Amino acid sequence: MGLRSLGLRAAYVAARASGVLARHESAMRSVVTILTYHRVLGDGDARAYPLPALAMPRTAFAAQLDWLSKRAAVRTLSRALDELRGATPRSDRPTVCITFDDGYADNAEIAAPELEQRGMRATFFLASGFVGRAQLMWFDRIALAWSTPGAARARVLDAVRSLDAGARASESWSASRVLAVFKSLDPETRRRLVATVGTPGEPPATHRPMTPRQAAALAMSGHELGAHSVTHELLPQLDDARLQSELVLSKREVESWSGKPVGCFCYPNGDHDDRVVEAVRRAGFRYACTTRPGVSTTESDPLRLARRDVTSGRVGARGTGGGCSIVSFRAEISGLAERTRGGA
Ligand SMILES: [Zn+2]
Repeated sequence: MGLRSLGLRAAYVAARASGVLARHESAMRSVVTILTYHRVLGDGDARAYPLPALAMPRTAFAAQLDWLSKRAAVRTLSRALDELRGATPRSDRPTVCITFDDGYADNAEIAAPELEQRGMRATFFLASGFVGRAQLMWFDRIALAWSTPGAARARVLDAVRSLDAGARASESWSASRVLAVFKSLDPETRRRLVATVGTPGEPPATHRPMTPRQAAALAMSGHELGAHSVTHELLPQLDDARLQSELVLSKREVESWSGKPVGCFCYPNGDHDDRVVEAVRRAGFRYACTTRPGVSTTESDPLRLARRDVTSGRVGARGTGGGCSIVSFRAEISGLAERTRGGA
């Protein structure tokens, strides 16, 4: 753990002792707090994952759920927001939604059993082309190639250096930094460059999507399925026709697994603008999540919902044996951490 995170953790411990943390937690009772997760992996796999911010170790995830099971009312997204906006009486505990982006197999195989053991249900946003056709996501292709020494990594480096934004790229760049360059490209250029990088052999088991059958089983067990586009393209970059097909097709596919109408959407990478939001509304979605940090109130735009991103680094679970700091988790979900970082 770095000096900065040790310093932050000390600040959170002090906030717990002085009652500041409890005040932030008590404010959670009047809002809906939506948490973002991507992957929950076995502790060793989480440590080795090329994009460590996206992978929570199973032990840490279980500890976070244990805390939530004592202190929060965990709801699926639609239920929590329907309750917030409607006349349904809400729990006197803080309402928390657990959301997962993308649709990896570990969501069904590791996260869901941990949730169900504690009587909790989550909302899973599925990129339908990933789940339905097992196509590796473009960012995983790049991150995997980057983490593979030799020719694959060299091809990524060549691709990045061919771009203005990546002209100074070096071997020491992190996978996230390399991906940031790819994300800045228009979709056509990105597709062309990703194709030159190729796929580094058989993708590892940790990068499998869940199957449609697993998605259907999640819905049968009471979890909520939401859509997350078909191909995970960044939606503001698409023309109107392509944008509409990403929304309508993913909704239809996820509904075929869910067996019921799908009302929730999540913008890939959080990227949205007025045109994209309007298209999401026209496609029939009632709620849509961004990556903007924050909580939902009765005043919130239901198609621009804020979330709190629970990354392994922020909760002291990165590069550990699997454990995490619960005081850091509490600071993250209550907004104390965002305020501390903002003021730092
Ligand atoms: Zn995503």
